[in-house]
Amino acid sequence: MPLPTAFACCAYSPPALSMICSDPGGCLRSVKTLVRSTVEIPPPSHLPHPIESLRRGNWVKLICGASFEDAADVRNLSLVYTLAGVDCIDCAADEPVVNAVNEGIAAAMSISMVNRPWVMISVNDDKEDLHFRKAEFDPEDCPSDCPRPCEKVCPATAILLQRVFEEGELVQNTEWGKLQGGVITERCYGCGRCFPICPYDKIRAITYVRDPSTTTKLLQRSDVDAIEIHTSGRCTDLFSELWNSLGDSLENVKLVAVSLPNVGESTLPVMNLIYAIMEPSIKCYNLWQLDGRPMSGDIGRGATKEAVDFAVHLAAARNKPHGFYQLAGGTNAFTIKSLKKQGIFQTMTIDGNSLEKSNEDKQARPEQADIGGIAYGGYARKIVGKILHKMPTQHGLPRIEDHPEYLMEAVKEALTLIGPVKGYAELKF
Ligand code: SF4
Ligand code: SF4
Repeated sequence: MPLPTAFACCAYSPPALSMICSDPGGCLRSVKTLVRSTVEIPPPSHLPHPIESLRRGNWVKLICGASFEDAADVRNLSLVYTLAGVDCIDCAADEPVVNAVNEGIAAAMSISMVNRPWVMISVNDDKEDLHFRKAEFDPEDCPSDCPRPCEKVCPATAILLQRVFEEGELVQNTEWGKLQGGVITERCYGCGRCFPICPYDKIRAITYVRDPSTTTKLLQRSDVDAIEIHTSGRCTDLFSELWNSLGDSLENVKLVAVSLPNVGESTLPVMNLIYAIMEPSIKCYNLWQLDGRPMSGDIGRGATKEAVDFAVHLAAARNKPHGFYQLAGGTNAFTIKSLKKQGIFQTMTIDGNSLEKSNEDKQARPEQADIGGIAYGGYARKIVGKILHKMPTQHGLPRIEDHPEYLMEAVKEALTLIGPVKGYAELKF
């Protein structure tokens, strides 16, 4: 299909020539035109609130990764997905990462008149949640003839090894010399794929809990809108401890999300216990993130099954706690199709819990979507990350808007993922 004339300066083909743009200013204008024509931004007075997206079932959250701390990638991902129209960007509860997200959002808003997504920080109440760990090994312990499968399997290119002679000289294409390098900590997001693949069992998982005092400081910021608390669903005492330690800082947020895995029959009782802990002090909206198969969306089609099964179970459940519901964990380009097949994509229902609270709770509404939306993590990072990593290396942090031809390609990828949830008109590129 031919591209509209507006995108002609970025209508590149074949791919080998695709990154040659003779008119960067024109390319950036083309990105703006593409976003304006696709995301269909209404006048400012009618901008949809992120909560409205949850009510309608078309909320989309970008998950940068609770442990992913590469500021350059986080900034550029935030820029691209803000242009694509996400409602929320979820990131590590770490000051430089939060700065990077906000910088990416500001850059996107300077390119096109898009909504500012909410910024959410992710924390945990114990060390059991898989999102809060890092891989670690000492390359000096690795046999020099190891074919380094760990490097190849890492989806975040977080393992970098080089072979060196004793004098430090680099060696290519040889099995001689010792290994140097290892895990790039800020890029490792704890997916765990390197652990079983090491033939010598050299890789350890380092688990951690985010410091509540750092979290409370971040929650004071006006550019942090929401918090997500990851819990294993096994011990509500730890949730209660964290909740109490966050204290008044929770008054600054617009949304509290709780992310938990499906723990079978005890899932609903645990959710109700958690809600009982939050209810006396919560003064904002609340969301349940149904974490199907953590950090697996980039693996393939089937990864979404557990998240969709979890959603089907919760959508049909009675006596579920008050709040919005959203999928995560294994979500990818196949999730919408799977939700439609199960008959729960953007279906609306009377929220009995909300009605009971209608006099006292602003969240009360006669109707809301069974599933408020979808969070995309590994898959969203993969489709845009492959473009980010093609950008020429340079001094300082690479800014994708300085390479508008790459930005155009990345925005198209992001729109292709977000469009079906948001109901954008058919994408014509
Ligand atoms: S845990 Fe995952 S992200 Fe971290 S180094 Fe291993 S494969 Fe890479
Ligand atoms: S696979 Fe294991 S032994 Fe081989 S380089 Fe990686 S960590 Fe070292």
